[in-house]
Amino acid sequence: MSKGTILSGMRPTGKLHIGHLSVLENWVKLQQDYRCYFMVADLHSLTTKFDETENLPNDIREMVLDWLSVGIDPVKSAVFVQSSVTQHAELHLYFSMNIPLSWLERCPTYKDQVAQFGRQGKDITTYGFLGYPVLQAADILMYFADTVPVGEDQLPHLELTREIARRFNFLYKTELFPEPQALLGKFPLVPGVDGRKMSKSYGNDIAISASSEDVRKRVNAMVTDPGRVRREDLGNPDVCIVNKYQEIYNNELLAYIQKTCRSAERGCVNCKKELYNLVEQLLAPIRERRAIYENNTYELQRDYLLKLKNKTRTKDPDTNERDEAPVHRKFDRYWKKAGRKEKETLKKTGSQVIADYKSGLITLNDVQSLLDARFDFVSLILQKGKERAGRQAVKTIEQVREAMNLRY
Ligand code: SF4
Repeated sequence: MSKGTILSGMRPTGKLHIGHLSVLENWVKLQQDYRCYFMVADLHSLTTKFDETENLPNDIREMVLDWLSVGIDPVKSAVFVQSSVTQHAELHLYFSMNIPLSWLERCPTYKDQVAQFGRQGKDITTYGFLGYPVLQAADILMYFADTVPVGEDQLPHLELTREIARRFNFLYKTELFPEPQALLGKFPLVPGVDGRKMSKSYGNDIAISASSEDVRKRVNAMVTDPGRVRREDLGNPDVCIVNKYQEIYNNELLAYIQKTCRSAERGCVNCKKELYNLVEQLLAPIRERRAIYENNTYELQRDYLLKLKNKTRTKDPDTNERDEAPVHRKFDRYWKKAGRKEKETLKKTGSQVIADYKSGLITLNDVQSLLDARFDFVSLILQKGKERAGRQAVKTIEQVREAMNLRY
């Protein structure tokens, strides 16, 4: 039985780095016990990147591929894009009518972030940015999430969500919204290979999807103890980035590593080799899974639809051999609008789709889903995630409108 409902999300930043891994691994564990909604927070990214939307589709795709590669299961959990479930924007609007401005202005990160962006020459003192904690509350409360996995730094935002739930319940004399509880997790801060904050824009990150060669290059580029010029010099692990990584990924041997570094029994070349092997062990299976998803075969898409059907126990009304004419009609409509790439995919997979339909393995709805997703696995799971999240969102909005007397 599910322990409760969880909503968690990430802004679409493209390929993720190993600093994100602990959060994702936590999600993977949580999906065993909770009903999970994992959201690509594209509306949140607009609060600061409203003028940088050209890479959004690709960034969403790359990030979702990383989620899947780490082990997010789109059959167990709803994986969806925030803006595709438009009720998020609607609930945000309803909440924004009664949230005092002072609640938002006192948010500890608000002024810091405005100043930080200001130093980079960007003014984010917008209506949307000030209100992003309200959007966050709408995201969580939309699914009546009772649990939110957070790091300690996000606790003030969660408290605001709880206040927003309380205020709504008080104003409209209802008990509609639960006050979500924090599920505190410890997420180690992985530094960039140069010791600064890990960031793609600094070029100091190790991507979750990095090739073995890239991992080697990044580990080799790590800054070690600058005072240790020769192999026989005594080392100081406290000022070495490799040591920080050993602390995270090789904690059991940390005392030994530090001791042998200080006594110069350990050399930096071997120390880095050891770390490379550890990171490689961590990333190799993720890379393999990513390759399967990137390969994007029809079989992968079909099996996903079948597993989903099994989970939701959707009954297939007709499993006898079927007439293929309706599928052809769908193909014809698709063909008229399809680009070159889509036509090629249809030529390649069309006969298999028809065979699976005729044998009763997939339904006409499945065929439509595959066409809507243009035979793209990521699009398919986002589309199904949108349907699942959307069903709950529609119900929530109905209840909210009822509570607010918005009946017409
Ligand atoms: S031996 Fe390892 S911990 Fe010590 S300075 Fe070299 S890389 Fe850093």
